[in-house]
Amino acid sequence: MSERRVRVRFAPSPTGALHIGGVRTALYNYLFARQHGGDFVFRIEDTDSSRFVPGAEEYIIESFKWLGIKFDEGVSFGGEHGPYRQSERREIYKVYVKQLLDAGKAYIAFDTPEELEAKRAEIENFQYDARTRGMMRNSLTMTKEEVDALIAAGNQYVVRFKIEAGEAVHVDDLIRGDVKIMSDILDDKVLYKSADELPTYHLANIVDDHLMEITHVIRGEEWLPSAPLHVLLYKAFGWEDTMPRFAHLPLLLKPEGKGKLSKRDGDRLGFPVFPLEWHDPKSGEVSSGFRESGYFPEAVINFLAFLGWNPGTERELYSLDELVGLFDISKCSKAGARFDYQKGIWFNHEYILNKSAEEIAEVFAPMVKAHGIDETMERITQVVAMMKDRVNFVHELWALCSFFFVAPTEYDEKTRKKRWKEDSAAQLTELIGVLESLDDFSLAHQEEVVHKWIEDNEYKMGNIMNAWRLTLVGEGKGPGMFDISAFLGKEETIARMKRAIAEL
Ligand code: GLU
Repeated sequence: MSERRVRVRFAPSPTGALHIGGVRTALYNYLFARQHGGDFVFRIEDTDSSRFVPGAEEYIIESFKWLGIKFDEGVSFGGEHGPYRQSERREIYKVYVKQLLDAGKAYIAFDTPEELEAKRAEIENFQYDARTRGMMRNSLTMTKEEVDALIAAGNQYVVRFKIEAGEAVHVDDLIRGDVKIMSDILDDKVLYKSADELPTYHLANIVDDHLMEITHVIRGEEWLPSAPLHVLLYKAFGWEDTMPRFAHLPLLLKPEGKGKLSKRDGDRLGFPVFPLEWHDPKSGEVSSGFRESGYFPEAVINFLAFLGWNPGTERELYSLDELVGLFDISKCSKAGARFDYQKGIWFNHEYILNKSAEEIAEVFAPMVKAHGIDETMERITQVVAMMKDRVNFVHELWALCSFFFVAPTEYDEKTRKKRWKEDSAAQLTELIGVLESLDDFSLAHQEEVVHKWIEDNEYKMGNIMNAWRLTLVGEGKGPGMFDISAFLGKEETIARMKRAIAEL
């Protein structure tokens, strides 16, 4: 058999916001597709109309756009294997349902929900399978005439997959190796419902993976229990030669390490579990997103790439393109990956360190403007250059830097008690005189002159600097004093000092 072109897919159901685990799944698919020069397909699995949530599909597309994960084909991207929305493929599925029925690999069942309920009450651990299907109302226990008559009379039915007992089913998993189960534990899954003329997830998923020529199915661990059924479906259709290879990714665990990560963990500990802010159309509830929380998409990608895999080196910062080169699906862990959101914050901080002041200023400038401040990009960039390394998120810069743009009107009481000494007013008044005499207000020149003045008068450097800081900043924080005064300029520096001396 000739090597097939690698084709993978991300196939979400539009049932709400995209969970961060889904983003990780898409990322791994993307890395795998890119490193094999293959295709990445975006399919929408919307055959369960009762779970459809308006806006979810658009949300998912926008999320990947923000993250920089690109698809080659699919809903909104086009391609040769469409339509890519399962609700638009009804007629295709009907052909394949009929194929299984004709081959005797599936059968029609009329059991109503009430009848099934009654059986469950009657038989302990009831499951619709080789042992029980003979006692149920289906095309295996009825004549063809009876079946046709029921359908003609408008009775609803489902099509069930006829799973033969006693077969060892092997799932060949790139991460987990050979996963074997006995077919006896599987039930005769519903593949199609006449009520909405739609297949269920399992049938649509297999038919589409086949028709879209998918070679590798990379998805979350929660789908592993479905995999044996999927293998049997491939066989029932006679498609075992082109059956995709599977890779079931490790679960994302709570930050504490036990149990599956949920949205509630995010609410409880204050971190997002969705890529973008999500407005639930039904409840009106708003959930935070990585984008709105101030994460850089590259940082989110880098963080997620390491949840379940790592390149086995000390280095942790990689671009998406670098990850394409390094990623190795077979080295993914089987054990769940703890969602260490603090590590996510760390990644964002590292990206701030590595980005230029200009890049960060682009993000910060609108926040400065939003506070009603009109500053040049150059001056905003200067402030960013001094302060960016101290924050994890760009929006944190405002609280740290506002004093550069707005003179203090209040003076922090604690700092004042500690830093404003008896002779502070007199010394700073003297310092005003020194500064006033300067023609060159550059950082270096100020520093030289002021240091000399302190030495000549045998003042205490710490006392002067701390008191001076209080007058310019209003509290005890900020970068070097001369950084501040040089940025503010002579006039503003002296004005702030005079005001503070009068107040304090
Ligand atoms: N529609 C499924 C989901 O929502 C797809 C699972 C799979 O990749 O097979 O995750």
